[in-house]
Amino acid sequence: MTDPHDDAAARRPLDLAGLQRRLADFAAARDWQPYHTPKNLAAALSVESSELLEIFQWLTPEESARVMDDPDTAHRVTDEVADVLAYLLQLCGVLDVDPLAALAAKIDRNEHRFPAGKPDRGSP
Ligand SMILES: [Mg+2]
Repeated sequence: MTDPHDDAAARRPLDLAGLQRRLADFAAARDWQPYHTPKNLAAALSVESSELLEIFQWLTPEESARVMDDPDTAHRVTDEVADVLAYLLQLCGVLDVDPLAALAAKIDRNEHRFPAGKPDRGSP
C-alpha cells in the first residue's frame, strides 16, 4: 500500500499501471471498493467529464483556446482532467481493460476506417 505521506511516491516515474495501483491502494485503504462498481465508476467518469466541460461551457472558441493562459482556470482544467483520468483508470481496473491497448486498437481501426486524404465520413 502507498503511504500518503511518502514523498517518494510523488517522485516515482509516471506510468498508467503505477497510477492505477495507487488509485486502488487509496480506495482500499478507505474501504471504498464496495462503491467502485463498474456502474458507479462509469457514472463518476461522466460527472467528472461534465465538470471539465462546464469550464468551457459559455466560452467562445477563441476564449477556449486561451483557457490555460489564466492560472486559476488552468488549475481547474488540470484538476478535472485528473478526475476524469482517475475514474477512467479505475473503471478499466475493475473491468480488466488495458486502456493503452484499447486506445491502440481504436486508433488502428480508425486509421483503416478513415484513410488519410479521403473525404471525411464522420467522426469516430
Ligand atoms: Mg472534479
